[in-house]
Parts: sequence; structure tokens; C-alpha cells
Amino acid sequence: MSRHRALLRNVVIGLEIHVQLLTRSKMFCGCSTQFGAPPNSQTCPVCLGLPGSLPVTNRRAIELGLRTALALHCDLGERSQFHRKNYYYPDIPKNYQISQYQYGVHPPLAVDGWMEIDIEGELRRMGIRRVHLEEDTGKLVHPEGADFSLVDYNRSGVPLMEVVTQPELRSPAEARVFLNALRQILQYAEVSIGRMEEGAMRCDANVSLRGPDGALGTRTEIKNLNSVRAVERALAFEAQRQAEVLAAGGVVVQETRHWDERLGVTFGSRGKEEAHDYRYFPEPDLAPIRVDAAWVRDVAGSLPEMPEARARRFAAAYGLGEYEAGLLVATKSPADFYEAAVAAHANPKAIANWQLGDVAAYLNEHALEIEDLRSRPEHLAALVRLIDDGTISGRIAKEVLAEMLAGGEEPETIVGRRGWVQISDEDALREAISAVIASHPGPVADVRSGKEKAIGFLVGQVMKRTRGKANPGVVNRLLKQALG
Ligand code: ADP
Ligand code: MG
Ligand code: ZN
Repeated sequence: MSRHRALLRNVVIGLEIHVQLLTRSKMFCGCSTQFGAPPNSQTCPVCLGLPGSLPVTNRRAIELGLRTALALHCDLGERSQFHRKNYYYPDIPKNYQISQYQYGVHPPLAVDGWMEIDIEGELRRMGIRRVHLEEDTGKLVHPEGADFSLVDYNRSGVPLMEVVTQPELRSPAEARVFLNALRQILQYAEVSIGRMEEGAMRCDANVSLRGPDGALGTRTEIKNLNSVRAVERALAFEAQRQAEVLAAGGVVVQETRHWDERLGVTFGSRGKEEAHDYRYFPEPDLAPIRVDAAWVRDVAGSLPEMPEARARRFAAAYGLGEYEAGLLVATKSPADFYEAAVAAHANPKAIANWQLGDVAAYLNEHALEIEDLRSRPEHLAALVRLIDDGTISGRIAKEVLAEMLAGGEEPETIVGRRGWVQISDEDALREAISAVIASHPGPVADVRSGKEKAIGFLVGQVMKRTRGKANPGVVNRLLKQALG
């Protein structure tokens, strides 16, 4: 094997993920976090960094940080502290960002956690180095062709959480799996909408190649990747580039690199700042954050079951396959919908089939989320109950479901209005059966001479005569009786 390929097997990846928190107001002032308002309309002296203004910490943001920390099995210090990270850039009006520094007197909000991810069927534990809180910067706008730039401070001071992993991911594909799993957890914990495409989750990816002695190599950091696919592609490119540099006898330079989505390459910019460049020091305007045991207990008690655990429970309690269970829990609202439906009618297998089949197809076709439906879980449960008690056939149920999803009516109402009640009444069915026997002497003779298969054809004819409303089981039995 070439040295180049050997190197690529030794990829080491660590991610730094910035997450926008679902708070109504900013991290240190009361301004709204609502996206899309006119530029600079959601600002005040604090988030504009005006002299004399004082920050006040948003308790809800800390709570969302705690929710994440607990979901990621982190250690919580009793006290943590904010720091000033000093640098000059027009999008940061104070000339420093309030953040949390890992080497302060008090640690960041949470450290040393882990998250389990499924790598090709094997559960692997990935270390989480820390979870800390900070504030977002403003946004620079560069108008096409203009010789000036504009800055919008609506985003300045919006709460951000940073999740930093240990360098324990072993391939770009694992980084993708990790980000998807983290997004799922953030959504479950109702911490963030977690969508990278909308900037609610932004990722910097660090990558290096282990040397022949197994020691960690020099890393590069790829900045501001804004989709899971970009992370995977950029890491694959960068690992390849490093392998080529090393195979040619060169050295990897520690630096920040950027990803060009169109060209599919990373390119270097400036050398990476070292921590001392930022001259971190404790934020003197804010007291340390105290998180006591009672608060932690409250937060822990309010956390929902996390997706991995929920999938395992679905499989065990509802007799579902691993794959089905995984699909159902992929996001929280469909999983909640499913459980509410099962609570209303105890046929978990059939409800899963309908939800993952016709309901999912409908949502997909209309680009809707399950919570956009007017149909409630009880409606899906009622539909399955109508099948289970023999009121409608599975075939009719498909049509009822289509109408139910489109109009939001109860399935019973639709069945009643359409006269779609399945005919199980034997007298009514005998009439149809006699007519079919009279008009199909050939197949009737076949059945009588022992050709069992022909009975299927006759059942089909009865279904046709009743426009699908006959109960096929009853028809089958009555036909057999009639033909001896
Ligand atoms: P810094 O303060 O230098 O930015 P961090 O603690 O923020 O350091 O870590 C940056 C990220 O780099 C972490 O996700 C970590 O896992 C990752 N990392 C550190 N060393 C390596 C390495 N040799 N290869 C790949 N990733 C690394
Ligand atoms: Mg860092
Ligand atoms: Zn403000």
C-alpha cells in the first residue's frame, strides 16, 4: 500500500459547532432575536456596544446550554464564567466578544461529555470537550459593485452555544453522521432548530493525519461550513490534500482554511490565531454563573427522551424493526404523532405502516411537516380502528386517508358521507355471490374441479360488484360454502 493511502486511513477530525439558541431575546439585552427584521431595527446600547451600557445574562440561554450539556452527558461545574475575547472587526462593535474561555478560574458551562453515534451498525461514543455560551456578531453586507460595506447589528448579541468535540471522528462520513445526530438531539431538547442551511448550526472542522507512530499530526481548521454535505466534502478534500503534502515529504502548516463550494477545494487565508492573540480575561461586567443542584435537577426533569433511546424503546415496546423505529424517531414531532396515535388505538404495527407509507408520501409530495397537517394522531388511529373492526377494507382505507389528509375531516365522517362502509352482512353478500356464480360458469367449474386458485378470481368479481366494499374474508368463506 502506498504511504499516501496509509495516511488517509489515519484521518483525525474534531468539530466546533456554533448553535443558535431558541430564545426570544438576545444573550445580554432584551432585543428580539426574530430573523428577517429590517437592518439594525433590533438593537440597543448593549448590543451596539455603546459606552456605559451593561450586559445582563439571559437565564433562558443558560438553561438551553444546560439542556444540551445534560443531553450530551457533560460535567457541570458549579460556577462558570464569561470572558472577553478581544479582537477588532466591524461586525463586533465592542471590539470584543463575550464568550467563555476554557482555561479561566471557572470552567466553561460544561465539559467532558459524550454522544453515541451509529457508525455502520456499531454504536460509538464520541467525546465532547466542552459546551459553552457566547454571543453572535453582527453581519457585514457587501453590496454588489459598491466601494463600501454595510453592517447589520440585528444578529449582534444573539445567543450562541458552541459544542466542541474531542478529535475522535475518523472519517468525513463519521463527521456527517455526528452532525446529523447532534442536530437531532438539539431538536429533541428544543434547544435550536439546528438546521445548518438556515445558519442555526454552523461548523468549523479540524482535520489532521496521524503519523506512522500514531501521534496526532498538525491540524488545519476549515471555517464556516454551512451544510452537512459541505462539511463532508471539505474534509475529504482537505484530508486528501494533507496526504499529498506529507507523501511528497512536505509538512502541514497549522492554519485556517476556507471551503469553495463551487470549485470543491479548500484554500488558506491567514495563520490561525493563538489563544493569546485574543487576550482573554474575565468579563468584569458579569458575575460568574452559578448553577446549583436544584436547577440542574429541574432542567434534567424537563428533558424529553433522546432519539437513540426512543428508537430502542419503540422497537421493543411496539414490535417494530430497527429501521422503522429509526425512521419514526428521526425528528421529534413525527415520533410524538406516532405515540399519540398508538395511545388512541393499540395497533402499533399498522399505525407505523400507514404513517411511514401513505402519510409520509403525502407530506413529501406537498413539502409539509407532520405538524402542518390538520389531521391529528387520533384521526390516524381511528382510520386503523375502522380497518381492524372490519368497517372498511384496506383498499378503501387508502382513499379515506387521502381525503382525510387533504381536508382534515374525521375518517368516520368521510366513510359515512361516501357510504364506504364495508359489507360484512352475509345476506347482502350472498346476493352478490349468487350473481357472480351465475355469470361465471367457467371459473365456477374450475373451483369445483379442485382448482383452488380460481376462487381468487371469483372473490375479485364480488369485490367489483360491490365497488370494493365487500369484506373479502367473509366473501371467501361464503363462496367456498356456496361451491361446496
Ligand atoms: P483551540 O482553542 O485551539 O481552538 P479547541 O479546544 O477549540 O482548541 O479545539 C479545536 C478543535 O480541534 C476541537 O474540536 C478538537 O477536537 C480539534 N482538534 C484538536 N487537535 C486536533 C488534531 N490534531 N486533529 C484534528 N482535530 C483536532
Ligand atoms: Mg476553538
Ligand atoms: Zn440589544
